[in-house]
Amino acid sequence: MRKILIVGSGQSGLQLALSLQEHGYDVTVMSARTPDEIRAGWVTSTQCMFADALAIERKHGLNLWDDVAPRVAGQGFSMAGPDGQRALNWIASWDGGPAQSIDQRVKMAAWLELFEERGGNVVIHGVTTADLNGLARLYELVIVAAGKGELVQLFDRDPSRSPYTKPQRRLSVSYVHGQESRPERPGTTDVWMNIIPGVGELINIPGYTLSGPCDIFYVSGIPGGPFDAFADRPPAEEQLRRHLELFRQYIPWEYERAKNAELTDGKAVLVGGYPPVVRRPVGELPSGGFVLGMADVVVANDPITGQGANNAAKCAESYLGSILENGDRPFDREWMQGAFDRYWEHAQWVTMFTNAMLQPPPPHVQQILGAAQTNPAVAKRFVNGFNNPTDFQHWLLDPAKTEEYLASV
Ligand SMILES: Cc1cc2nc3c(=O)[nH]c(=O)nc-3n(C[C@H](O)[C@H](O)[C@H](O)COP(=O)(O)OP(=O)(O)OC[C@H]3O[C@@H](n4cnc5c(N)ncnc54)[C@H](O)[C@@H]3O)c2cc1C
Repeated sequence: MRKILIVGSGQSGLQLALSLQEHGYDVTVMSARTPDEIRAGWVTSTQCMFADALAIERKHGLNLWDDVAPRVAGQGFSMAGPDGQRALNWIASWDGGPAQSIDQRVKMAAWLELFEERGGNVVIHGVTTADLNGLARLYELVIVAAGKGELVQLFDRDPSRSPYTKPQRRLSVSYVHGQESRPERPGTTDVWMNIIPGVGELINIPGYTLSGPCDIFYVSGIPGGPFDAFADRPPAEEQLRRHLELFRQYIPWEYERAKNAELTDGKAVLVGGYPPVVRRPVGELPSGGFVLGMADVVVANDPITGQGANNAAKCAESYLGSILENGDRPFDREWMQGAFDRYWEHAQWVTMFTNAMLQPPPPHVQQILGAAQTNPAVAKRFVNGFNNPTDFQHWLLDPAKTEEYLASV
């Protein structure tokens, strides 16, 4: 049985650990926190996942919340006009099936327990680089899946793939109960992106948390603007109060639904922001050993397009394929680079699309967002791209291709 160490118990680390376990590998997961500590912690994400990523989880029997989580049918877009009205407002549903957002406190705690119940080795320990130096000798392969934590320092930034050096948005999140249904979509649950030009975005996501179904406000503020109002890390209740006040001023249609919302729990808020980055996938330890970075460690996009957890699922599945295909051969540096390159075939398009969405939309993208208002085919293709962003290269990331596409619909 080949021995593999995975450092980090998030979306990518646990999914890979559980799927390797299925194939008889001897896997150890090192986690900074126990399941109970994860459940008792602060929220970490909004983690909306689309059909293709959910299909990977289902394939490995990890879809433990399909019967209880809101089935998120579609994705809507509104753009605020100068008069406080909506200059754009449209929605389309996904062809591949509903999306789902399971609070990572719920999901990762349950997956960590499941991994252990199925015979996996769990070591609760916040791993340092010095630890890795010693540990690497004991395993045939070490994968670092520690998100955006300090271990990323083992992996050099790739400047050719990382156009930004500073955070492009300041993020703040509140999980709530008591939001009213959208008047024009009664009884449905949809993700809705509200764009306020020059200010930022509110993305409203139906989710499932420790206390059941909920709604998540994901506020993404352009640095220095009015949505960048949480640097003082206010107490949770004050953060929600500020969110509601911003909705009242900038997106009054959302305020009307949200005004009676209450936090789901005392740790249902998050404040942050980080520069998007692509790193080189192989880290070299002082001992001369090599470790492979996974998911956010090597490709961390701004969450504006909701791709990080989807990417983490796809990265873990891609690495699983590379490990299985390697058979009994050594997991050397060349193999590690090859495993990453295979994942990058997908991730490069997600990165390109997400980085583009951080800029004011160029005229050809404005044309698409406008056309989607009157043409359901355009709306559907745009929305489906969130499930499979590789499609954007064919019609959205290049003005000439956009022109050709718009002439064809
Ligand atoms: C505000 C916000 C909203 C987001 N919304 C979405 C969304 O809607 N959809 C989407 O797809 N993505 C979203 N994302 C991104 C998504 O959450 C991440 O990209 C995804 O969780 C990355 O998975 P991962 O496995 O790489 O790392 P993580 O899920 O971050 O897991 C890393 C794990 O490693 C552990 N760890 C860290 N350091 C150590 C150490 N030294 N030793 C041991 N363990 C360690 C951590 O405790 C954690 O458990 C969002 C992110 C943010 C911040």
